[in-house]
Amino acid sequence: MQGRIHSLESFGTVDGPGTRYVVFVQGCPMRCKYCHNPDTWEMNAGQLMEPDYIIEQYERNKAFYNGGGLTVTGGEPLMQLDFLIDLFTKAKAKDIHTCIDTSGIAFNPNNPELMAKFDKLMPLTDLVMLDIKHIDPEKHLELTGQPNDGILAFASYLNEKNVDMWIRHVIVPGLTDDDEYLYKLGYFIGQFQNLKALDALPYHTMGKSKYEKLGMDYKLADTPAMSQKDLLVKKQVILNGIKDRRAEESMPHEDFEVLDNSYVKD
Ligand code: SF4
Repeated sequence: MQGRIHSLESFGTVDGPGTRYVVFVQGCPMRCKYCHNPDTWEMNAGQLMEPDYIIEQYERNKAFYNGGGLTVTGGEPLMQLDFLIDLFTKAKAKDIHTCIDTSGIAFNPNNPELMAKFDKLMPLTDLVMLDIKHIDPEKHLELTGQPNDGILAFASYLNEKNVDMWIRHVIVPGLTDDDEYLYKLGYFIGQFQNLKALDALPYHTMGKSKYEKLGMDYKLADTPAMSQKDLLVKKQVILNGIKDRRAEESMPHEDFEVLDNSYVKD
């Protein structure tokens, strides 16, 4: 099953553990105001590619991926479930560590046909990096143009399926940095045993020039970048929520990693 691919990166270092071969898929139904890859939005653009080709490319440099693996990001990978199932089946046959970097938007527990595909994909997936853009339904809709109920249900589903999960959250001044919601986010994800890491990322303004190049309007033109200092404070608020939830559920507090990434990502 061919995938619709935006681009490939041979040595990714910010898309999961270790050095990774990174597949950027084409197509995303979200419209995050801070998205730095608007060129991945269009569903019918990109290049069609066979999973075999991607595995071949991986194998060429496989010595470099020791402790790393293969990540599919985007765009939105879960919009191409058949391709992912095919690609990951081939990857697991070669014992390659597989990771999906996703917003979770394609998940819908009320669609049995879709769920059958998710059920097939999960045993082939070693790690899901789930980017929760906003914990509040209305603010999520405002920020991304899409609801977040399916996304939050996806986190619960991953926990049920015992798939390791990293939670990512981009902290944007004035948009996603409200302490009330950061605490709620922490409190929500604190319930999940499959939570292996928290990756709070600082908003940066480097996407602006991409919008200019594409002749698109950048909605956050006046929003400043998030400073490292403020990021640490905000990250602590999320951690407080996790800690409180884990205390309530009698779960260990320190069984997940807090990633300390100064890198920037959308
Ligand atoms: S940030 Fe990710 S989920 Fe949001 S619009 Fe961009 S590609 Fe889609």
